[in-house]
Amino acid sequence: MAEFLIIGGGIGGLAAALALQRIGRQVAVFERSPVFGEVGAGLTVGPNMLHGLAWLGLAEPMARHMMIPEHGGVMDIATGELLVSNRRGPVPAQRYGQPYAQVHRADLQRVLLDAVRRNDSSALHAGHALTGLSEASGSVTAHFANGRAVQGGFLIGADGSRSVVRDVLFPGHPPVFTGYVAWRGLVPMARLGHVRFFPDSAILIGPGRSLARYRVRQGELLNYAAFAESSEWAEEGWSIRSGLADLLDRYAGCAPVVREIIEQTPADQCFKWGLFDRDPLPAWTAGRATLLGDAAHPMLPFLGQGAAMAVEDAVVLARAVAAVGDPLAAFQRYEMLRRERTAFVTQASRAAVREFHSPDTRGYDPGRHRDAESLGIFAFNPATAPIHVA
Ligand SMILES: Cc1cc2nc3c(=O)[nH]c(=O)nc-3n(C[C@H](O)[C@H](O)[C@H](O)COP(=O)(O)OP(=O)(O)OC[C@H]3O[C@@H](n4cnc5c(N)ncnc54)[C@H](O)[C@@H]3O)c2cc1C
Repeated sequence: MAEFLIIGGGIGGLAAALALQRIGRQVAVFERSPVFGEVGAGLTVGPNMLHGLAWLGLAEPMARHMMIPEHGGVMDIATGELLVSNRRGPVPAQRYGQPYAQVHRADLQRVLLDAVRRNDSSALHAGHALTGLSEASGSVTAHFANGRAVQGGFLIGADGSRSVVRDVLFPGHPPVFTGYVAWRGLVPMARLGHVRFFPDSAILIGPGRSLARYRVRQGELLNYAAFAESSEWAEEGWSIRSGLADLLDRYAGCAPVVREIIEQTPADQCFKWGLFDRDPLPAWTAGRATLLGDAAHPMLPFLGQGAAMAVEDAVVLARAVAAVGDPLAAFQRYEMLRRERTAFVTQASRAAVREFHSPDTRGYDPGRHRDAESLGIFAFNPATAPIHVA
């Protein structure tokens, strides 16, 4: 019987598995998909997340996959004018002890998977969709759609924003459509060789729509995420194909570079979905189970911090278990240590999009710009943050 059952093999679940293995605990991870895998998309990894990944022993493999942009910026989506520019390159590492970088999600997933598997080749179980939980004294049992029931000491729900674990522990918190639809795409840079991308990492903003773009995979691919206001409901999920015509239509009148990026997207590389939001839960822990990552605190993607919060959760949770000993007391400590920060980032992500999509882009200036750095989010180190409470 594994001490910790972890439901969900995304970035949060795998980081939690590795963090608990690092302190000598036994884990079993259950993923509903038939294979462990991530969608083809990019991810921003700020210094706070990289401190967590370094604590997990992943500094070296991450360095092989990361792209470090030289500059970050905010641009007007209609004119392409640069509104705010930040020097990146070596600066974040000098300031925070870790760089600001971007990776392909599948590369990060692979690094996490390999590390968990190296520690324990029997820890990973694909094809296990959780359907329910039951508790007896001293144990918790996870029930799966494939008919299996697995007993463990404690359970961590890292099953994402549509978490079944959350619905079992805290029913009655349905998702609410935010009024934003999103598209993501990956474009081979070879198709965009004629376009000058300065700054090399940027968000283009304007009334009712925005687009974030940066390079991944040693600069071979341009990753973008586009967001538009819409009263129309779109499914929540990452893998719903979208035609380019719809996207071109929504981004009519934008700077030529935006249309170029969209037009050069391979037809099978554009996906669309609706952004849903939830208010913070009253608690994350009930009985022998707790929540982590998007299952605990789903947030809008406008500060690029959701995966970072999941990695921070994982490190703080394992450090709490190591410090407190009893996992039940550690779950309470973890929740207490994490709730305020994740609620702040959730609220700040909502506020960021209101600024990005405000009608007066021309008035947007460095003084108004709110990103994860100016909000102080990068300065947190989950590997050294205090775990003991007075
Ligand atoms: C457009 C966009 C851009 C983003 N950009 C960034 C960024 O730049 N930086 C950043 O830090 N964050 C970013 N995020 C947020 C980030 O993607 C998420 O916060 C992060 O993936 C959460 O990880 P997780 O492991 O908690 O959940 P998930 O990644 O959703 O993983 C949950 C896993 O649980 C599995 N699962 C679900 N239900 C069950 C079940 N019943 N039984 C078993 N398994 C189950 C799923 O298949 C999945 O593998 C972005 C999000 C979006 C939408």
